Amino acid sequence: MSLATLRQQIEAASGPSHPVRLLAVSKLQPAIAVATLAGQGQRAFGENYVQEAAAKIAELTALGLQWHLIGHLQSNKAELAAQVFDWVQTVDRAKLVGALARYRPAALPPLNVLIQVNIDDEDSKHGCAPEQIAGLAEAVANEPRLCLRGLMAIPAPFPEAAKRQAAFARMQALFTGLAAHHPQVDTLSMGMSSDFAEAIAAGSTMVRVGTALFGQRPSP
Ligand SMILES: *Cc1c(COP(=O)(O)O)cnc(C)c1O
Repeated sequence: MSLATLRQQIEAASGPSHPVRLLAVSKLQPAIAVATLAGQGQRAFGENYVQEAAAKIAELTALGLQWHLIGHLQSNKAELAAQVFDWVQTVDRAKLVGALARYRPAALPPLNVLIQVNIDDEDSKHGCAPEQIAGLAEAVANEPRLCLRGLMAIPAPFPEAAKRQAAFARMQALFTGLAAHHPQVDTLSMGMSSDFAEAIAAGSTMVRVGTALFGQRPSP
């Protein structure tokens, strides 16, 4: 669908008092596709693979876009990630917190960080357990080169709406609990092409939409 249609659907699901940011997920899409959306006013883009993203970001640097890492981050890519991204949404272990803080260039503003939660406890998914959020949040908040902004999750794609909604509701409760301890926390990143309206109903403040916006992704 067009960017305008997607924005209308997001607004219809959220209402005026609940602003929701759109992250356009451009993984495996060519730089020209990003530039086209940027020309229509889209500023924030999400990427999954650090090296692919670094090349695209360098190519599009003149556009002044905001780049979010939403894919799993291996420790050996933390240095490059800390140099090229504005946000890292997939922090799920203490080792990564230290590495991102160490490598964030002094000339850049602090790196915005979301803690990724494995909300349905899936073996196949990265993310920390809900019990680990508080400790990780403390570690991020103690790093002056990092800025704790909130939580991110990729709930399991249950066929039953009630199960999907239960996962979103658990995330909302975890987010409210975190924000009570860290007043700067303002971002709950959840919802993708197939479920962004449900995620917004559960309090999402940032939806990550790829396929619905760009069409089917080229294969890697
Ligand atoms: C690919 C991806 C998305 C976008 O998924 P679509 O179904 O294409 O909208 C969102 N979040 C993450 C973490 C992703 O990897």
